[in-house]
Amino acid sequence: MVILQAPRINLLKFAAIGGLLLASVLGVVLVKSKVGQRWFGSGHNSAAPDKKEKGELAESQAGGQPARRPSLSRLAPDVVRDYSYNGVHLLNGAGDPLYAADARYKTFLERLRQLPPDILIVGKEAPLTHSLGPILSFGGENRTFPPVANRKGEDARRQLTPDELRLRIKATERFVQDVHSAGVKTVIPYISPMTMLGNKSGRQGFFQFFDSWDKYAQAFDLGARPSGDPLDWTQRDKKGETYFRMGGGSEDDHGLTRYSMCVNNPGWRRWQMIVADWIARVGYDGVWMDNVLVHRCYDQYCQALAKEMGTDLSREPDRVWLESYLRYFDDLRHAGGTRRHGDFFLGGNYIELPFQRAVTDKLDLSMVEQVWLGAARILWPGGVWTGYYPALPNQKVLNNRTEGTSEARSFNNLWIAQLAYAMRGDRGVHLLAGAAAGKGPEFAHNEDSATVALAEGATFGGGVAVQVVGQYPFHSDNDVGAFKGRERFFTFARAHRELYEQMLPAGDVAIVVFPDQEAAALVEAQQVHQALLWSGLLVDVLDGDKQTPATLSRYGLVVVPGRPALPQWMKALPLLQSPDPLSPEEVRDVKKSYQKDRNAPQLRQTKLSGMAVEKAAALRALTLPQDSLVEGCAWANDQRMVLHLLNFHVPIGLANGGKVTPVNDIDVQLKLPKGKTVRQVKIYSTDGREAQTATFKQGGDTLKFKVASVRVYDVCEVVFR
Ligand SMILES: [Zn+2]
Repeated sequence: MVILQAPRINLLKFAAIGGLLLASVLGVVLVKSKVGQRWFGSGHNSAAPDKKEKGELAESQAGGQPARRPSLSRLAPDVVRDYSYNGVHLLNGAGDPLYAADARYKTFLERLRQLPPDILIVGKEAPLTHSLGPILSFGGENRTFPPVANRKGEDARRQLTPDELRLRIKATERFVQDVHSAGVKTVIPYISPMTMLGNKSGRQGFFQFFDSWDKYAQAFDLGARPSGDPLDWTQRDKKGETYFRMGGGSEDDHGLTRYSMCVNNPGWRRWQMIVADWIARVGYDGVWMDNVLVHRCYDQYCQALAKEMGTDLSREPDRVWLESYLRYFDDLRHAGGTRRHGDFFLGGNYIELPFQRAVTDKLDLSMVEQVWLGAARILWPGGVWTGYYPALPNQKVLNNRTEGTSEARSFNNLWIAQLAYAMRGDRGVHLLAGAAAGKGPEFAHNEDSATVALAEGATFGGGVAVQVVGQYPFHSDNDVGAFKGRERFFTFARAHRELYEQMLPAGDVAIVVFPDQEAAALVEAQQVHQALLWSGLLVDVLDGDKQTPATLSRYGLVVVPGRPALPQWMKALPLLQSPDPLSPEEVRDVKKSYQKDRNAPQLRQTKLSGMAVEKAAALRALTLPQDSLVEGCAWANDQRMVLHLLNFHVPIGLANGGKVTPVNDIDVQLKLPKGKTVRQVKIYSTDGREAQTATFKQGGDTLKFKVASVRVYDVCEVVFR
């Protein structure tokens, strides 16, 4: 309790000076530095705060501190995912004669050097493959095993001899070295914590490697062969039968079955740590995990963990499975970090809605693959690359990719980016990995559309990363536009970090969500969000658990969709709540009927959207020409307020760069944080022109100025005295 005193006293002091926003931002910074990990939980109890901690949280909220640490905006990382589906990454010559040198490798390095991303995610280029052990193929993900160019006719999944494994390690080391030398800070290879491939009767696949463990053990520091058999390491259903999350136990073309493994099983856990240790040993900065939290296991190890947590697996399975993975993450970080004498980066693909915050408390990067699963995936048209598209009657782009669209329209990821921000945990950020609407250059990004897509995640998502390249980013001419967009956006953003970092949302309308409560509320929240688009409003999507009376009281309208359990203090505020929220059953029914007949489901539109539109009308911040597709978001801290303006009428397609029509004469009216006096308004553009100083008028906490023209992306910086 003593620890909580310091920030609270400071918070009151600053609140007294004036400026509630200032107070909340400073409060956050103080919380971060003085309270840190202890208060917000780390280590093994993070999924289950004990009674004492819960009591502290309730008390601290009454004193002006939120239940969860607010998420300050960050500069989004530049992330490129290249799984080497074309089998190039290890063809650097160091693994000759197993892996020969290939001209495509030179191209890869040249293009990487031109614009090295912050984070490069690669395929199965680890010394040991998580699902099969040491094998010939590299690159790809769980189900893809690219052939090796100079090994034609050989089974891509054949086991390597110990001598061949040495060559693979050399090739891997060279690859990582080259990537670092090219300027990439973080490079991480693909693993899956839950996938093993094998044929149990023929002892093929992972079984074959397991049976020959002793041939590798000493030379590669594997330690003694784990006791038991890999067949005992699988997830179990309630009856104790082997549980197959994917594939149902069927065999693929080569007779291998995909098993779903339990991360709590000591044998599988140890194998995972060996894989991670070798990843760190060859120089990688961390790992990239697919299938995060794909876990439905009732075996004795999961039972034991439940008991340790003081619960019952049949009563609270989700909490136990979450905890299983949080501990697994800790172990991975420890294993890799020990080898590297430092940190070990953890990234993963986690596509479920619940527990996003808990997972990003631990992971550095969490991927939203297209859109989050569950009801959401059916109902949210998202995950297609941001841009303005012509009518696509024959392209499946709507409703979980079941339908085309008969009219030209904007596809954007505003909702997903803003929800991702609301669902951010204490450590990492999200990566939106959408997909092109179709193959070919007409669906690829050009410089302008890629810039908007990146800026959308970075600004509306307060630092959300976005993937704008295709499957072969360093070997496809279709990605030339995306590379130019990356260059344009990140050159600008890195030169102006202060426009992106250490700020909190500062819009006029708040949609408050509670990420770990009922998902039906999120679906209704999306309806409201959709209804408020393109009307010149500054809308924030906020995590209710990160708010205080101070942060919410600055909003002209606070919308709380669904019927969530609200903290006591929030009930006292004027909130717009739903008279007819969607029930969990309604959402579930739509999901079920979709799963049955694949027809695009129609979900009831609740009254809340209409009510929000009506009440928000007086809060318009941007006066826009009719039919323009400009959307803005605002952020602020003690020094400045920043308004990002994006034009979403940017045509997609490689050949369409430079064809954006600028939106002119935008009148801006901003509500300033209390007590702030504006010194200067500067307007920046990613188009490369010099920042311009705008004339402005301040009356009380209202600021007015004009933006002459937004072509793709402008930033207005309001500097306080
Ligand atoms: Zn288990």
